[in-house]
Amino acid sequence: MIHVEHPADPSRPVVNALTIDVEDYFHVSAFDAPGRRAQWANFESRVERATDRLLELFEAASVTATFFVLGWVAERHPALVRRIAGGGHELASHGYAHQLVYDMTPAAFREDLRRAHGAIGDASGVEVRGYRAPSFSVTSRSLWAIDVLIEEGYAYDSSIYPIFRDRYGLPGAPRFAHTIVRQAGCLLELPPSTVRVAGLTLPVGGGGYFRLYPFVLTRRAVASLNSRDHRPAIVYLHPWEIDPDQPRQAGSACSRLRHYVNLRETEARLVQLLRLFPFGPMSALLPQAAARASVVRTAAAPMTVLGPPAWQVRS
Ligand SMILES: [Zn+2]
Repeated sequence: MIHVEHPADPSRPVVNALTIDVEDYFHVSAFDAPGRRAQWANFESRVERATDRLLELFEAASVTATFFVLGWVAERHPALVRRIAGGGHELASHGYAHQLVYDMTPAAFREDLRRAHGAIGDASGVEVRGYRAPSFSVTSRSLWAIDVLIEEGYAYDSSIYPIFRDRYGLPGAPRFAHTIVRQAGCLLELPPSTVRVAGLTLPVGGGGYFRLYPFVLTRRAVASLNSRDHRPAIVYLHPWEIDPDQPRQAGSACSRLRHYVNLRETEARLVQLLRLFPFGPMSALLPQAAARASVVRTAAAPMTVLGPPAWQVRS
């Protein structure tokens, strides 16, 4: 795997990326269990109400975002997908059935990807160009997914979290936008944000981390990424994170803590974040990143191969 890192450009103003993974509270991987998927259709769906609330908040803040929509949701709530697009937001794919990528074969992953692509396209008429895996499940076990995404015509991916976690993460992967070069072609990788503290790479500004950390830490991290690193933060949330009254589910104590901590705080924190920093969709990061990557690639020498040798797999 060859990575071409895109240098920061201090001459351009930084716009952060605001991203939403559109799924219902019962799709979450932490609560998955044998037989549970067959029950999905029986749960009370709350994704429309919560996503509509996000759309209101974004309209009030005059912000557009990227919505990575689960195909399962797009099929059942096509009008919601149209409302997202109608608000001027970018549609992208969160896969179809919220299967962890490393639990699928490449053929099953391609099928899941195509089914989501079709469902979102049928609902909206939009052809999605971006992908985010359920639970960031593109890891050292599933890097073949990058080849499939390239072959399926995707422009970017946001599934590789450069941290160590039980369910996901690729420690040592580049922290900022980079192009992954494979025989099949290139894919822009836009990783969720991290900061470096005491030699460690720590996740920041998304999901459970956004809810768990005091807001002042998130604010400082985004400010540091923007002003010190001249990099956009890539923030992610889910509609269920602004829905504190969602039905409680069975799961381990750890999963319940991660899922339910500070749900009542999320909306106010999000509104504050949108007041403090400029945000836009992932697609706003593309022209600059793609342009800079092409400069790097076409110049003869300066292609930089990054990442520790342990996980560099040349195709
Ligand atoms: Zn998800």
